[in-house]
Amino acid sequence: MTSLNWPQLRLNSDFNFLNGFKNLLFKFNSKNINENKKSQGQVFLIGAGPGDPELLTIKAYRLIQEADIVFYDSLITDEMLQLIPKKTQKVFVGKRCGKHSIKQDSICDLLVKEGLSGKNIVRLKGGDPSIFGRLAEEADALKNNNIKFAIVPGITAASGCAAYSGIPLTHREYSQSVRFVTAHLKQEALQADWQNLASSKDTLVFYMGLNRINQISEGLITHGMIDTMPIAIIDKGATVQQQVIISTLKDITKTMKGLKLLGPALIVVGEVINARQIVDLEMLKMSEVVNESN
Ligand code: SAH
Repeated sequence: MTSLNWPQLRLNSDFNFLNGFKNLLFKFNSKNINENKKSQGQVFLIGAGPGDPELLTIKAYRLIQEADIVFYDSLITDEMLQLIPKKTQKVFVGKRCGKHSIKQDSICDLLVKEGLSGKNIVRLKGGDPSIFGRLAEEADALKNNNIKFAIVPGITAASGCAAYSGIPLTHREYSQSVRFVTAHLKQEALQADWQNLASSKDTLVFYMGLNRINQISEGLITHGMIDTMPIAIIDKGATVQQQVIISTLKDITKTMKGLKLLGPALIVVGEVINARQIVDLEMLKMSEVVNESN
């Protein structure tokens, strides 16, 4: 196991940099907050990226500053929440302890209710909203109620975890394509197509698979994937608590014994893991950026 030692971001002082950045953004943005506020409500479905608040896009950051209300889920880190202005209403609509504290229908109803009341709403989701993000349900509800909405992409966990763990998702020698797979099926009866996954030459990236590592490794081996195929688990990727565990399909259960993984975690299966390079996460610390800009 490699636990990458990534020092805490010094949020209070370092976010002055972001404040300066915010001012710069407003200069370029011809519409100011008041102009943006229409009597009709509008909703921005925004991807926040996988953890590091600096992976938020500039557009996402600007829209968050302009929002009346932000609905956020459990993938939104405390550091990201600090980017939301104090005056803005923040509403948690995520899962806790593996249970939905609020059902998807209720989230849609909330968005519609606030949208109809004329608010400028941000629905902030971890990673990219279009990847395992229940985007379609929310967009449908908004459309059905004639509420204007727009979608802002975010860095999906696969890209963030790949970068921060030094694992390439594709490689000219090992893998020409990559597949994002959910390990959490709507109905247990709808089994993953193991045959197809096991015979694939793609890099496989499993989302929501931390509690299903055994099923994933056994499913792939049983259906013909070589049992020495490398597997990586990236826990809390792109955050200061990131841990990267590397093993093989046959040994992963043993390797995991005694380890405390908190999730969210991503599972990568494929030869690309052999091409991993250790990246220097120290270089991504915010203080480096601040120093250079001074
Ligand atoms: N829309 C999100 C995915 C939502 S599904 C995206 O594009 O990333 C939730 C799953 O995403 C988690 O169970 C985990 O598998 C993965 N995930 C999200 N953030 C992660 C992170 N920081 N590190 C590792 N995995 C993450």
